[in-house]
Amino acid sequence: MRRVLTWLLVAAAAIAVAWWVAELPGKVAISVAGLSFEASAPVAVLLGAITLVLLYFAIRAIGFVMFLPRRLRQWNAARHRRSGDAAVTRALVTLAAAEGRAARSASAKARRLLGDTPQTLLLAAEAARLDNDEDAAARIFQLMAERPDAAFLGLRGLFRQATARGDWTAAQQLARQAEAIQPGASWLRQARLELAARTGDWLPALGLAGPDAPLAALATAASGNALTADEGEKLARRAFRADPAFVPAALAYATRLRAAGREGKALEVLREAWTNAAHPALAELALAPVHDALGRVRAATGLVKQRPDHPESHLLLCRLSLAAGLTGEARRHAKAALATGAHDRRAFMLLADIEAGEGGNHTAAVEALRHAASAEPEPAWICGNCKAEQPQWHPACPACHAPASLVWGRRTSATPVLTADATVPRLPS
Ligand SMILES: [Zn+2]
Repeated sequence: MRRVLTWLLVAAAAIAVAWWVAELPGKVAISVAGLSFEASAPVAVLLGAITLVLLYFAIRAIGFVMFLPRRLRQWNAARHRRSGDAAVTRALVTLAAAEGRAARSASAKARRLLGDTPQTLLLAAEAARLDNDEDAAARIFQLMAERPDAAFLGLRGLFRQATARGDWTAAQQLARQAEAIQPGASWLRQARLELAARTGDWLPALGLAGPDAPLAALATAASGNALTADEGEKLARRAFRADPAFVPAALAYATRLRAAGREGKALEVLREAWTNAAHPALAELALAPVHDALGRVRAATGLVKQRPDHPESHLLLCRLSLAAGLTGEARRHAKAALATGAHDRRAFMLLADIEAGEGGNHTAAVEALRHAASAEPEPAWICGNCKAEQPQWHPACPACHAPASLVWGRRTSATPVLTADATVPRLPS
């Protein structure tokens, strides 16, 4: 309805103008180079309007012819881009479907139509890898690594190839180059961590550690790599401060302190660690310089004084009392350990030893051995990734190379059960 009204108004205006022009009085005379032209005013106005319209179309036609080659180029480029985009989509779909041949063909078409852009190169390299042509992929990744706009992607691809073939030296070099281009990239953090798990070079991994990284485990591992005793002590202290319940950090820090002649401070650290996470290795280190049996009982009593009721405290004092000939004390601690609810095989074995000795109860010894057979095994370092059991803590699991994956706990049928004090190093996201 509005359109009809508009058209009616325009038509009325046109008729009014035409009427007004037709009614214009007078004549127009033009004389050029001996030629003269004379017409009435309405005819002259009409001719003038027709001339203007013709001039407009002539200028448009000239412009169209002049810009025709450029328009054709633009049209061709747009057509190529549309076909190239379709080829990129096809390459992505075939990559996702793991169809190597089809992905290579689609990515080659995308490269031909769109040229060597970071996207088309990456698609071509990934398609080559999927098609098991690692050499072709390496050539494309190398090409990308030499271009400023695709260098990081190229280095990342070369790094993945190096780690896949176990060339850790090349992988380290590539990681350093990638670090220089994109410092602090989260992929690099994870890559550095995995690399360190393979090469034992933990300092760079610690240097790149993000907020989610297992800092205590990384700093403990890095302190083992330190070139000087001073640097080693600083790293071990950092690890212990990051997580005072992380036993390997406390052991590393106390060992460094003892080596520097600071025995009092070393024992203080071990006492604090025992309070946070009682662990047999802490006692072993604390008591290492004490050799007489009674002295060891006294030293152990001092170590556990903040947590005397912990099962590990009772087990330690039971074992040392037995060695010192304090059978009554040993029996009391063994029973106290079992009274805490810890049905630990070590407690039953110690009890069996006590009862089998002089003045012991033979029946109680047999009973303790019977319980030991069905008791929980002693805790160990168990990999949270592959569940392999390790006698000692390692920064990376020796079986599956997962970094910071060893947890102090007990093995069950499927998964390790953590002890109350077990420390779970967090894996980076
Ligand atoms: Zn493992």
